[in-house]
Amino acid sequence: MDRVALVTGGTRGLGAAIAVALRDAGYRVATVHRSNVDAAQAFREKTSIPVFCWDVADFSACREGIRQVESEIGPVDILVNNAGITRDAVLHRMTPEQWSAVILTNLGSVFNMSRNAIEGMRERGFGRIVNISSVNGERGQIGQANYAAAKAGILGFTKSLALESARKNITVNAIAPGYCDTDMVAAVPKEVLDKIVAGIPVGRLGNGGDIARLVLFLADDAASFITGATFDANGGQFMA
Ligand code: NDP
Repeated sequence: MDRVALVTGGTRGLGAAIAVALRDAGYRVATVHRSNVDAAQAFREKTSIPVFCWDVADFSACREGIRQVESEIGPVDILVNNAGITRDAVLHRMTPEQWSAVILTNLGSVFNMSRNAIEGMRERGFGRIVNISSVNGERGQIGQANYAAAKAGILGFTKSLALESARKNITVNAIAPGYCDTDMVAAVPKEVLDKIVAGIPVGRLGNGGDIARLVLFLADDAASFITGATFDANGGQFMA
């Protein structure tokens, strides 16, 4: 297959599983990460998937980075906006830095990456953009006003860009994962995590494979009638 897929935050956690699943399905895949060089190197050695390094919160870095991916691998047909961080604090203790870091990384990145990929997609008359939101963007969460705002913002962005792009055979969809077994969730204290798992009807955390199968479905050329949608993958924890 000639299609090129670019996965932000593709060197660890959900993004790594998404990148591998796309590679195994025949896509030419590139990943972007920011700072964990050891994890990126281990991922590259294990999978042979190309790894690029830039800050997706930086618009110019995204423009240059996408140019580099396109010159080395090919035009980006499938963009998975997956990179994300948490800086949790209840609002009365949240610093402006915690607010801005999460908004710029989790929501600003979706603009930065999509804006720099969309013109090529429009010219070529094909594109698949998959934005990774969160169950906590749908329902809110204590200590995550920044994260929930960014993840909810992704849903409005997804619908708007889907409308703008529909006539160009570009679909734009969101996935809202529930709690998954990654480094991000490993940072949650065990007693809190036990309570979270107890509240998940299927009785377990999600994993990369649970999310990657949805990305594969949406990335397919045949998924052209599905756009502007949000797909929940949360083990039944929240039903919108
Ligand atoms: P991880 O913390 O395991 O991995 C995050 C990835 O994003 C890493 O590759 C990291 O790079 C990269 N990244 C972070 N910031 C930047 C940046 N500024 N520029 C470029 N790359 C960056 O996260 P998860 O796999 O757990 O989460 C993936 C996505 O899924 C996130 O958007 C998250 O909000 C969302 N999500 C996760 C859930 C979960 O339970 N895990 C639940 C719901 C949503 P590096 O390694 O270099 O730091």
